Amino acid sequence: MNPIARQFLRDANAKAGDRQHRATVQRNIGLYDAAVARGKARFADWSNGRARLAQIKWDVVNHLDQYLEQFERQVLANGGQVHWAETDEQARQVIVGIARKHGVRKVVKAKSMTTEEIHLVPALEAAGIRTLETDLGEYICQLRGELPYHIVTPVMHLSRQDVSRTFTEKLGTPPTDSAEELTGIARRQLRQEFLTAGMGITGANFAIAETGQIALTENEGNIRLCFSLPRIHVAIVGIEKLVPRVEDLALFWPMLATSGTGQAVTGTNSLVGGPRCDGEPDGPEEFHVILLDNGRTRLLADVEQRDALHCIRCGACLNACPVYRTIGGHAYRTTYMGPIGAVITPHLRGLNDWAHLPYASSLCGACSAVCPVNIPVHRHLLHNRRSATSQKAGGLQAVFTVWRWFMQAAPRYRLGGWLARWFSRRGWAAPPWTDTRELPIPPAQSFRDWWKNQ
Ligand code: SF4
Repeated sequence: MNPIARQFLRDANAKAGDRQHRATVQRNIGLYDAAVARGKARFADWSNGRARLAQIKWDVVNHLDQYLEQFERQVLANGGQVHWAETDEQARQVIVGIARKHGVRKVVKAKSMTTEEIHLVPALEAAGIRTLETDLGEYICQLRGELPYHIVTPVMHLSRQDVSRTFTEKLGTPPTDSAEELTGIARRQLRQEFLTAGMGITGANFAIAETGQIALTENEGNIRLCFSLPRIHVAIVGIEKLVPRVEDLALFWPMLATSGTGQAVTGTNSLVGGPRCDGEPDGPEEFHVILLDNGRTRLLADVEQRDALHCIRCGACLNACPVYRTIGGHAYRTTYMGPIGAVITPHLRGLNDWAHLPYASSLCGACSAVCPVNIPVHRHLLHNRRSATSQKAGGLQAVFTVWRWFMQAAPRYRLGGWLARWFSRRGWAAPPWTDTRELPIPPAQSFRDWWKNQ
């Protein structure tokens, strides 16, 4: 077992036994479940909506080259700039380069899993550029020096008391139990930062091919401040985020909101299409879009699994997963955790180190049942298990060669039975398989011997 897999097992075991952690997460997911049930009831036909979203994403993913070029043309026509990044390293270099060119000393950043994926904050900080998370959950993570626990709700594992303790320790504010007061503390800390930052960095929930706009959805208003106040706006966009038309948002936005948080639609939704035009009171002077591959085209090349690119990062499959609910988000040590993380991480970061992830599933299918874009997530987990097993096919093949030799002739079969009984009487085990399972003990007497004695 590789060290990453061993670490995963250690972390998962520790969290599974942490009753306080489990109580907090169960409570928060319980609230989410109730909100989602109410949210879905507002739709005339939720399953038809899922089918429609899947159909749109299928079209996008299977004509990705055309939609990407159309999107690029429109961004350029709107006065924006487009950068193509094949790797995370290239994306970091582009962003640091833009910041340096404009003498940016401070960046305000919206919540974006794509920026987590490319490890952007450490790269900016290493370049001497102070970078502030402005989403409340991400801000708390940054103060605590933690990675997000969940792709939608980064501090799902924390209670109000935990947040209050963090603020007291890091900001020196008095303890409070009030969510409003805690939010007010973060708001006061961050407001001045928005006004003095030279660059705002966002992700994009969707990128619209026909108009060259990016669509951003949020509840706090911090994303709107990130792209409208600083002089430069940089949006980092995974190439799978495209949708063909603005009108597609009429279904994507409410279904994402309902699956993500149970809301009918999130509090603030923005379309950003370029830099500030003449006569406009606000908006950036420069608008840069970075189109990130970073392993996505590997997934695209896999015809059996490319529909994993349909994912709109709603987080519903994490909340539904009994394994995620038990071991939590940090145990995975990946940007994308839970079932969809176990599907895409081996593609994005290599199967060698991450082959253990698809086994972190009971294959109950709850992830597939809740996915708003109809991704058969649990089938992809099985698919990844198959890929992981065929990588180790050498060892398995040897086992089956020996097994076949014993099974091919009666005397060898008898010898095999005798050896199995002999080893099992001496407490023989087959780790790691028997670490968590009882090895069946063969009876002391074989059937043949018993028959002879009758
Ligand atoms: S796989 Fe489906 S349920 Fe999971 S995050 Fe993506 S869109 Fe949401």
